[in-house]
Amino acid sequence: MESNIILALDIEEKDKALRVAKEVVGHVKAFKVGYPLILNYGVNVINEVSKFGEVIVDLKIADIPDVSRNIARIVTSNGGEGVIAHGFVGRDVIREVRKESKKLYVVAEMSHPGNTDFMSGLSEKIAIMAKEEGADGIVAPATHPDRIRILKRVSGLQVLSPGVGTQGGSYRGAMESGADYLIIGRSITMSSDPKQKIKELLSQR
Ligand code: C5P
Repeated sequence: MESNIILALDIEEKDKALRVAKEVVGHVKAFKVGYPLILNYGVNVINEVSKFGEVIVDLKIADIPDVSRNIARIVTSNGGEGVIAHGFVGRDVIREVRKESKKLYVVAEMSHPGNTDFMSGLSEKIAIMAKEEGADGIVAPATHPDRIRILKRVSGLQVLSPGVGTQGGSYRGAMESGADYLIIGRSITMSSDPKQKIKELLSQR
């Protein structure tokens, strides 16, 4: 069965990130690259990681429409197969980012405790808007599996779910709530044997 794990490469040293990526080829659905690697090494690091598989670029884009679209264009033209943008900034932003993304994933809710300060109150509207604007999926938290179920139902979109492991969410709980893909970082990248850790997670299916 194909892996449903998206490996978050939140690693500041490129050599280590590429070493982990190479080690787990064939055991992950995709790699997620964000600020830590891109700020340290520049946008071309996306191309470098893409030699090992599909890359979803997570800059959680949240700027005005014009700037957001240009960010999406730059990361896509440097090897990004997918782009993650924040939904709370509004429909016009998502519409512009859609134009320059191959696959677009919209953050509906986040996985950290502060998510409940503001975002969880808006997330159903964000998820519906993401669907209407042609997004390929939404991001919803494994730390609150009940929210995965609701956001998947209201949007009908695929759900990418971060928060498994280090942040306290469970692989099984997220899957049972309807998550399609699990975004997992530290509990894999910081383990002594990343490939084995992935196999253990996948064996829970
Ligand atoms: O290390 P850990 O498994 O907690 O990493 C989770 C990853 O998912 C991080 O890259 C984080 O930026 C990302 N993420 C998240 N919550 C969101 C969207 C992305 O934790 N809503």
